[in-house]
Amino acid sequence: MGDATIPLIDLRHAALKAVVPSVLTPANGLLTDRLGRPLRDLRISVTDRCNFRCSYCMPKEVFDSQYKFLPQSSLLSFEEITRTAAVFAAHGVQKIRLTGGEPLLRKHLEVLVGMLAQLRTPQGQAMDLTLTTNASVLTRKAKALQEAGLQRITISLDALDDAIFRRMNDVDFPVADVLAGIEAAAKAGLAPIKVNMVVKRGVNDHEILPMARFFREHFGTAVVLRFIEYMDVGNTNGWAMDHVVPSHEVRRRIEEHHPLVALEANAEGETAQRWAYADGRGELGFISSVTQAFCGDCNRARLSTEGRLYLCLFANQGYDLRPLLREEQASDEQLAAAIAGIWSQRTDRYSELRGQNAAPALAGARKVEMHYIGG
Ligand code: SAM
Ligand code: SF4
Ligand code: SF4
Repeated sequence: MGDATIPLIDLRHAALKAVVPSVLTPANGLLTDRLGRPLRDLRISVTDRCNFRCSYCMPKEVFDSQYKFLPQSSLLSFEEITRTAAVFAAHGVQKIRLTGGEPLLRKHLEVLVGMLAQLRTPQGQAMDLTLTTNASVLTRKAKALQEAGLQRITISLDALDDAIFRRMNDVDFPVADVLAGIEAAAKAGLAPIKVNMVVKRGVNDHEILPMARFFREHFGTAVVLRFIEYMDVGNTNGWAMDHVVPSHEVRRRIEEHHPLVALEANAEGETAQRWAYADGRGELGFISSVTQAFCGDCNRARLSTEGRLYLCLFANQGYDLRPLLREEQASDEQLAAAIAGIWSQRTDRYSELRGQNAAPALAGARKVEMHYIGG
């Protein structure tokens, strides 16, 4: 009994070893993949553990007391992460997002933030450094993170209604503590604060308007509320298209009460479509990962907690960089060449294929879990 019924296929072991090409071409910040997409954004998962059990990400039935999270020895150290990130910066990465699992559960995370804050792009600019968190321990950490060099922060919150939120995080965590975390982040000067709400039909879609109103009234332009379409990440959340509330529907529900105007994108490869209240009292974002794929300019790579490079959120295998960092003691040039070899072959565009109904080909495909590679 027990184990045999767990529907999780463990893809953490499905990784190709990263290889160092025989000819080493130095990084010049201009690396592109096979579809001409540059590498600009690196998401680093610092832990695969989390104190929440959001059903769309780490359902309790799968991630229970029997589940084996990665042992401490598997995790990249802060030095290994920083060294790898520096090589990514040389390839053109300008933005680093720390994620997980719950990144604030990684001990002394502010030390890592301080190390990453020292990195520079080939043009000498500091990294755009940010972090995504469930905010459960943020009141205690916001100030230290900001002092270490964190510039801004994204906080996940799926409902204002306490009963709904407790049910969604599935560990009975109260809304009030997340709101206190948002206040603490604002007070520490981590701005702009983004709040991410994953919308699941029949679960929290009636919270769309209350969330919009609350952030508009209490935080105005200091918080950007972003609605995320519920995605078919991983294999454990029982995703179905019926659960997705398309962004255009979310927007329409808000516009019925508060007129909105479209804004220009801030940066190339930005995932959210930006809108503002016509009366100037705040901004909203819509992340339409399911209904309007944005693979065309996807410039994101993901580094897992144990040092595997993933080229897509929906990938079914990664490339293991850790042996290069550890046993093989590769030089920075060798590491850069290995990463270039991987990125330059990239063709991933899962969401576009899903949108074109090439999904049958993908339907049986096993994907890596989101808490493992980070959102
Ligand atoms: N634990 C942190 C948090 O929740 O903010 C960071 C990691 S979490 C995997 C990153 C983001 O992914 C969160 O905003 C979360 O809501 C989002 N996410 C997780 N599963 C998702 C799904 N199936 N569809 C859409 N977004 C999802
Ligand atoms: Fe944890 Fe974030 Fe996943 Fe929720 S979405 S289970 S908080 S990693
Ligand atoms: Fe990027 Fe993959 Fe998402 Fe497309 S599906 S936007 S390639 S992460």
